[in-house]
Amino acid sequence: MTDTFKTIARFQYSSEAQIIKGRLEADGIEVFLSDNLTIDTDPLISNAIGGVKLKVYSHQSETALEILNAINKYSVDDEGQAIICPTCKSKKIELFSTIKDAKSLIWFIFGVLFSALPFYTRHKYRCEACQTEFDLK
Ligand SMILES: [Zn+2]
Repeated sequence: MTDTFKTIARFQYSSEAQIIKGRLEADGIEVFLSDNLTIDTDPLISNAIGGVKLKVYSHQSETALEILNAINKYSVDDEGQAIICPTCKSKKIELFSTIKDAKSLIWFIFGVLFSALPFYTRHKYRCEACQTEFDLK
């Protein structure tokens, strides 16, 4: 039987991913990071490529997610303050990448080639409670 991988978390910087990796490994879960080397080389592209992906074997993903949920902190701003939903004031805000289809991927590659990040391949925040998507500013 071949095992497949499942991405269970994304991080903007590999240092964050390393911390979580260590935590999961302490519980016997094998963790694989992807794009961490790329992002270490050029942290500025982290947002554009969707951050450092933390992957585990599919059969361990449920356990891994439980641990992750237990230690999960919702998105905070640069000062460490919880980000609050502009619509319903919930603090359950998650960060997600806006690269979700082939078209934005093509724009991303285009942006890398011309050293300018395309305007819509960046992270946005999404409220878990009411699903509002918003930018910080
Ligand atoms: Zn909300």
